[in-house]
Amino acid sequence: ITSRLPQVGTTIFTTMSALAVQCRAVNLGQGFPDFGCDPRLVDAVAEAMRQGHNQYPPMTGVAALREAVAGKIAALYGHGYDAQAEITITAGATQALLTAMLAAVQPGDEVIVLDPCYDSYVPAIELAGATAVRVPLTPGSFRPDFDRIGAAIGPRTRLIVINSPHNPSGTVWSEAEMLRLQELLAPTNVLVLSDEVYEHMVYDGLAHCSVSRYPGLAARSFVVSSFGKTFHVTGWKVGTVAAPAALTAEFRKVHQFNVFTVNTPMQVGLARYLQDPAPYLGLPAFYQTKRDFFRAGLQSSRLRLLDCQGTYFQSVDISAVTTLPEVDFCEWLTREIGVAAIPTSAFYGDGFEQGIVRFCFAKQEATLVQALERLQKL
Ligand code: PMP
Ligand code: GLN
Repeated sequence: ITSRLPQVGTTIFTTMSALAVQCRAVNLGQGFPDFGCDPRLVDAVAEAMRQGHNQYPPMTGVAALREAVAGKIAALYGHGYDAQAEITITAGATQALLTAMLAAVQPGDEVIVLDPCYDSYVPAIELAGATAVRVPLTPGSFRPDFDRIGAAIGPRTRLIVINSPHNPSGTVWSEAEMLRLQELLAPTNVLVLSDEVYEHMVYDGLAHCSVSRYPGLAARSFVVSSFGKTFHVTGWKVGTVAAPAALTAEFRKVHQFNVFTVNTPMQVGLARYLQDPAPYLGLPAFYQTKRDFFRAGLQSSRLRLLDCQGTYFQSVDISAVTTLPEVDFCEWLTREIGVAAIPTSAFYGDGFEQGIVRFCFAKQEATLVQALERLQKL
């Protein structure tokens, strides 16, 4: 067959996890926790199964979960989404991103992504028949460059994908940056796909500036999140999309023929578990402790720490250690030092090299200690 995605191979996350297993390395590559979730969440799902919540839920998702999500967004960000018409439950953020793209974008449209970006965005744009326009974030700081974004917007621009807190750099967009985006898009009909899967991993007292806080952005946005990140259950693949009713209606037209709906007992269990805000409100402190522990350990290595305002990723500059390209360095580090990492170049269209690699610190302290002992020898 003729490939729909001729440029695409196996993702860097799969590749590095396989290498980590093969080399018995400490896997700080692919982003996932190596610890369990709250047993109360498992109990809630098991209970839902025992109670017989095992047949198809509504196509849009279990009502109680949509209501819990709408309530959480209203409480945290002050935007009242209608649970019936504006919230949809998805099979993780990945399906939400692809479905939103297929629903909103036509062949011939242009979609702006900000490089470096998560690896599913550009294939999703291409599967929708549209063209990705890659606009670099400012090298070094990874902050949005609004002059460049503005210059990239043209008559065919249909949508822009944004991601704060940002994978891989950990940058968190400020209120001023969100207002700047709102102002920039005001005279246009450009839609926004806002990937907010790390919304609860923001440190040092910073606030997550969801697009839903800004009426001019909320009115044109699909807001994507994922319980996998928030509740340490990346394997469950349950996510959410919040969007105005007209956008949600188009989203659901695609969603119903993409997955139709998402497994019932996890939705029922998550709806019950969400009644207590403590688990997600406690997440910044939980992960900030891990971030600080990992950063403190890396101070005595020759890896130079970059800022980490959010996400569970810590990026480092490797230039004092090696002149190898990032991909080769990550392979060497996994094979010879026994720690897997992700090359930042994998998040750029042209494999742009700046000597930066990403570690995931969503790990037990013993795992971080083992990795640090190895990295401190560099
Ligand atoms: N977006 C970003 C920025 C991510 O880091 C991830 C997870 N790795 C996803 C989307 C996908 O989330 P999910 O596992 O819920 O599909
Ligand atoms: N989002 C995860 C990361 O950035 C990986 C998810 C995946 O393996 N596709 O590491």
